[in-house]
Amino acid sequence: MTLILLKNTLLVTMNPAREVFRGDLFVRDDRIAGIKKTDDGRVDGEANNAQCIDHIIDAGRWAILPGFIQTHIHLCQTLFRNQAEDLPLLDWLRKKIWPYEAAHSAASMRISARLSIAELLAGGTTTILDMGSVHHYDEVFDELQKWGMRAVGGKCMMDVGDGVPAGLLETARDSLNESRRLFDAWHGAANGRLRYAFAPRFALSCTEPLLREISAMAADWGCMIHTHAGETAAEEEILLKEKKRRSIPFLCDMGISGAHCCFAHGVQASEDEIASLARNKTAVTHCPGSNAKLGSGIAPVVQMRRAGVLVGLGADGAPCNNRLDIFAEMRLAALLQKLRHGAVALPARALVEMATIDGARCLNWEKEIGSLEIGKKADLVAIDLDTPHTHPLNVENIYAQIVYAARSSDVRLTVIDGRICFENGQVMEMDVDATIAQANMEWEKLQQRATS
Ligand SMILES: [Zn+2]
Repeated sequence: MTLILLKNTLLVTMNPAREVFRGDLFVRDDRIAGIKKTDDGRVDGEANNAQCIDHIIDAGRWAILPGFIQTHIHLCQTLFRNQAEDLPLLDWLRKKIWPYEAAHSAASMRISARLSIAELLAGGTTTILDMGSVHHYDEVFDELQKWGMRAVGGKCMMDVGDGVPAGLLETARDSLNESRRLFDAWHGAANGRLRYAFAPRFALSCTEPLLREISAMAADWGCMIHTHAGETAAEEEILLKEKKRRSIPFLCDMGISGAHCCFAHGVQASEDEIASLARNKTAVTHCPGSNAKLGSGIAPVVQMRRAGVLVGLGADGAPCNNRLDIFAEMRLAALLQKLRHGAVALPARALVEMATIDGARCLNWEKEIGSLEIGKKADLVAIDLDTPHTHPLNVENIYAQIVYAARSSDVRLTVIDGRICFENGQVMEMDVDATIAQANMEWEKLQQRATS
């Protein structure tokens, strides 16, 4: 049994009332067991008994938030960081990312995931929705299990497409069989921290029979579907020519829509498509850094939220960002919408919502994560607000400090499922220097395989 007490801290709860107050937070095993408000001494949940607590942490300088949730990440691509610059999406995929993904070995995949996890934990991300490559997804799940992250993820599915290397192209049957094997092996593993999701790459890389099978099987197995949709104008043009439909209506026609589906990007979503996403309860992940860097455009986040579309946030892959940093995404997302809609658009609290409770809702996991509430999983992050770049504080709008002033390097503690995964600059039990050295070595070898 593990007991952790965070004392006299600023609790940014993201609970339904969005309460922010000073108090203590008590963790028993994998759950938030008690919350005590400093002002009135009121204790919700279990009171703590200081004698038998494993970790008593004086958190007076910190704000404690629910752990950040990024609902679009590619752990498999982190090894290609800084290696695919100044290209639009389809060139970026065909010339760089697909050949690199095809050259992955089990060892390079494992270290790519490990390097990403080190960055994510240090930046306060506790949960991800991950799209893998076509092969080696066991290695990704195994690393997520080992370092304590919470994740929904799945192997990428590709059975057709221009410029797809042979090493990534698979038959629909093989793709579905491998998905089934991975689902059986990993869905619900690691105390329920890991869940499987179908991950068809995008409309251009999957045949219609494959997409229809995915729709039926996801309903059958009760698992999510994660894909890219409406990312670039070029992709929409090709689809219009080939399928006579744009990506969001096309996927919808294939049965890929609903509360169990999360689409990355939605940059190109029209008014009608936004209405259909809202009607079908399909969630969208906004990836402002990736959209800006690939020149894809600015997603209609304000319109989507206004229409009732659930919107999460994610960094996407390291080679199109080049960070996996939720603080950078929150800040950029706000600034881009303000440029488009004026200064009152998308206030800071909305960004923290997207990165916590709304991210949890995108994953249908909001009963367990996304806010600091008694009985929920103990997934939380401590942000040091006692730095020159965050003072003077304004507790009335703490969200502005977090979104605009704080940085990922201000994260002091990351707890997932009640386990301390990052503390005092250290990823627990990981030799980060060795991870970096091994990542560079594996990248060299992968590059040789990709060009030979
Ligand atoms: Zn992506």
